[in-house]
Amino acid sequence: MNAISKVADKVLGKVETSTPAKPEVDESNLMNAVIWKGKKDVRYVRKPKPCITDPRDILLKVTATSICGSDLHLYSNAIFDMHEGDILGHEFMGIIEEVGSEVKKLEIGQRVVVAFDIACGTCEYCEREEYTACDTTNPSKLAEKMYGHRTSAFYGYSHLTGGVPGGQSEYVRVPFADFNCLPIPDDIPDEKALYLSDVVPTALHGCMLGDVKEGCSVAIWGLGPVGLLVARWCQIFKAGRIIGIDRVPERIQIAEKLGIEIINFGEQDTVKTLQQLVPGGVDVAIECAGFEYSTTRKHKVERALALETDTADIFDEMFTAVLKFGRVSVIGVYSGKANHFPVGQMMEKGLNVRCGQSPTQKYWKYALKMIQKGEFDPTFVVTRRGKLSEAPKLYELFNDKKEGVIKVFLRPDEYTEDDRAHIKNLYFKYSSFLLELFSISYSCRVFCFEVDCL
Ligand SMILES: [Zn+2]
Ligand SMILES: [Zn+2]
Repeated sequence: MNAISKVADKVLGKVETSTPAKPEVDESNLMNAVIWKGKKDVRYVRKPKPCITDPRDILLKVTATSICGSDLHLYSNAIFDMHEGDILGHEFMGIIEEVGSEVKKLEIGQRVVVAFDIACGTCEYCEREEYTACDTTNPSKLAEKMYGHRTSAFYGYSHLTGGVPGGQSEYVRVPFADFNCLPIPDDIPDEKALYLSDVVPTALHGCMLGDVKEGCSVAIWGLGPVGLLVARWCQIFKAGRIIGIDRVPERIQIAEKLGIEIINFGEQDTVKTLQQLVPGGVDVAIECAGFEYSTTRKHKVERALALETDTADIFDEMFTAVLKFGRVSVIGVYSGKANHFPVGQMMEKGLNVRCGQSPTQKYWKYALKMIQKGEFDPTFVVTRRGKLSEAPKLYELFNDKKEGVIKVFLRPDEYTEDDRAHIKNLYFKYSSFLLELFSISYSCRVFCFEVDCL
């Protein structure tokens, strides 16, 4: 599928975007980065350092990054249009090392989180806060052909979403930086701030799409990092019953500690158990798993034979378990076509199905406030801390659900706590050098003027 999509991408060509689609790089200056090489082949290599190519850009020195559950779809080569050598990663934060001449709200040395979706901030979609639908940042004609429209560009997530180099690297160029960076107060550590780039706002988006409110019953399919964070938001919104569905022991342990009800689908029938737990059906079903997780033989076979790209198994379960006129929220990734989609169930039960990638910038200020107040702490999903160079091994463990890897927190290998002070220092040295030059040139001009007068 990926090979065919790459050919289609080449034939169709690209659309002009509002920011350079192919950022410049400094070939003489190399950095470390994690790249996609092929199916189940991710490597830590040297790549050219990016440069500012638009006056609205910043150059970010990455201090922390993560591997997302949705990166696993790239790892298994299930997403269209990945190219060998693409830098991975869409969850990252860091310190601003350079600012473009038109950046107004940010400065060198500032600590920021970057949204996974790249929004221009000014198109009609951005004005409606539908940032993941930004009309101007993704050049992919293939996306237009497949979906009728282009979504916004994402970092490190295939050429279908722009082929933008990602944040599992030491440096990243961030376009429309005033809009796509969230400054982080000093009292919030990186460990708590990093996940504002995606999973924390995405989980909140899942609750908003499902209209989770006080007293309602919610079932969550998939207790990966996003599913667990959805459960935590549901507690904050005072949902009456929260039932998580998974079978990975380490995930179940965290969910139990959180205090939600569990269905282990390795041992229990999901739909029957839900019907026993909540006779009449749950108010809200939230999908946090994605298109690869077939549970029935028919979908397993059809996916293996490439007769479909995505499975509808979880939709079958959700549509059966949710009550009539119930709410279904889909935030797990789906990107192609699924056979046997239960369209009749959806129609006849009058289900309210809402889905989509989270517009991070719409939610992140609220989420940051909740973190600052101590009401929301995303670190309960972090099970492993490591270095960027360990990413290839961690992809494998995360994919195989081994060694309890649920969410990772990665630092660049060269990271030191003094990074920020160092960048600020450089900035001040540079500023005082400019000031000195200015005063020398001024003195010269005064001197010439005085000579002229003589
Ligand atoms: Zn993510
Ligand atoms: Zn836009």
